[in-house]
Amino acid sequence: MSRKILFLDLDGTLWDERPVREAIEGTMTNEQLNVLPEIAARVRRNLGYYTWTEVYRELGLDYPLLLAQHAGAIEPYPGVRKVLRALADDWSIWIATDGGLDYSRFKIDRLGIGPSISRVLTSDFMRTMKDDPTWWRRALDHAGCPARDAAAVGDSLWDVTVPATLGMRAIWIQNTPQADHLTTPPGIVCCRSFLEVPPLLGSKQSGHSSP
Ligand SMILES: [Mg+2]
Repeated sequence: MSRKILFLDLDGTLWDERPVREAIEGTMTNEQLNVLPEIAARVRRNLGYYTWTEVYRELGLDYPLLLAQHAGAIEPYPGVRKVLRALADDWSIWIATDGGLDYSRFKIDRLGIGPSISRVLTSDFMRTMKDDPTWWRRALDHAGCPARDAAAVGDSLWDVTVPATLGMRAIWIQNTPQADHLTTPPGIVCCRSFLEVPPLLGSKQSGHSSP
């Protein structure tokens, strides 16, 4: 495969997932909310990864169903579809998300970005998560491309730290106040919005006039 690969985070990078997360958590008891991190850690110890489908199932809850009930709030940040279409001229765009394939594809459909996406890599498919170098080595193997021809973009350090150490281009979108309190590791380029990403990747800003 000769095209360059762009590994792109989903939640928080292409859309603001916080209102949906807060709406779902608003339907839960405090006891359920308090044990979520503990369940996630246990599931990860057992499986090597976790997705919200597995974590919520332990509470007797159906995460994909809860997400579907709040589907109306799943919408991209302004300009995201247009930038993705332009980037897709130069890059093969692979969603790289620590989530389940079931609900990640649902989100991609709701966001209306499917036509720009070549492939979706999720935690349950990769059997690990993005803070693990194995995740990225498997991703490069699937893509059939060397690290120098790949880039990773995401809104958390978790998304870009390992890619930078493996020699991939790494762009951290610092779009939350928490990011201001973290130190940027070497080899990572920072910006404030996904709209700033194309020139940082050497791509034109936009090749289309429609939104
Ligand atoms: Mg994210």
